[in-house]
Amino acid sequence: MKPFTYERAKSIGDAVAAVAAKPGAKFISGGTNLLDLMKLEVETPSHLVDISRLPLNRIEDMPDGGVRIGAQVSNSVLAGDPRIRRKYPVLSQALLAGASGQLRNKASTGGNLLQRTRCYYFYDRTMPCNKREPGSGCSALEGFNRIHAVLGTSDACIAAHPSDMAVAMTALDARIEIVGPSGTTRVIPISELHRLPGKTPQIDNSLANGEMIVAVVLPPPPAGKQVYRKVRDRASYAFALVSVAAIVDSAAGRIRDARIAMGGIAPKPWRLNETEQMLQAALASDRTFSQAADAAMTNARGFGQNDFKMPLAIRTLRVTLGMLSNQT
Ligand code: SF4
Repeated sequence: MKPFTYERAKSIGDAVAAVAAKPGAKFISGGTNLLDLMKLEVETPSHLVDISRLPLNRIEDMPDGGVRIGAQVSNSVLAGDPRIRRKYPVLSQALLAGASGQLRNKASTGGNLLQRTRCYYFYDRTMPCNKREPGSGCSALEGFNRIHAVLGTSDACIAAHPSDMAVAMTALDARIEIVGPSGTTRVIPISELHRLPGKTPQIDNSLANGEMIVAVVLPPPPAGKQVYRKVRDRASYAFALVSVAAIVDSAAGRIRDARIAMGGIAPKPWRLNETEQMLQAALASDRTFSQAADAAMTNARGFGQNDFKMPLAIRTLRVTLGMLSNQT
């Protein structure tokens, strides 16, 4: 591991100023991803600003019926919060489907959003990787790409986003509160946080240098049933091959509203806007769900070993939609 300096931030202002002032500085909270990357020298920060003790660990009720989740709330606390379990079960289920109990105790809400891909080649410094070393090439394109993305990829990178939590938050239309080095706060929809690789896969998100996530705001829970369904190689402690976060409101055999995001298939949590529109006012039938699931993969492209993800995604989505509409 390369030498680095460390400080514990005493305030949000101190934290963002410290990272903005020092080239190569990074925030650290639970460290469940960053420390692994540092040990492998994939990440080599010159300075770490510890934000884990900042007063950002509360889950607050909002006047409109939503909740505001501090960026330092751990994944375990968030998953177990009675309000989250009752009003946003899709989020609680997604969190409990991620990582292990020990990791969830350490991992923060903000850190979970900003974790980096688990592409094998990104972690292997002997192999070309455009995300780690821009311009070096993408080893996954013709290599081991079983876990890689089938939507939103580019010729430069086909890595998948690893978070379960972010997929549920995407279906819930979460908004991200960000504080910058000047002390100003901006709020963006979660759909604008993560970016597609394009020609610059080394840039994972839309945060500027020194900007820090301070909270995630969930709007009031949408009507309907919620579920997070994750397909993976083993029953726990595995990233999603395919996952679905779905909220479906149906009555009298028709769908009134559907919100769907998928994980494991794209470089960012993948909201199915067109599929949702297809489902509006449609009959809640197997035929509808099959057509919607097929449509969701229309633009998907496999790279050999991950071709199976397209039929798997279709089946997972179809079954999840059927399950939710049968429950209503
Ligand atoms: Fe690197 Fe992305 Fe290619 Fe993986 S898929 S080797 S992260 S450029």
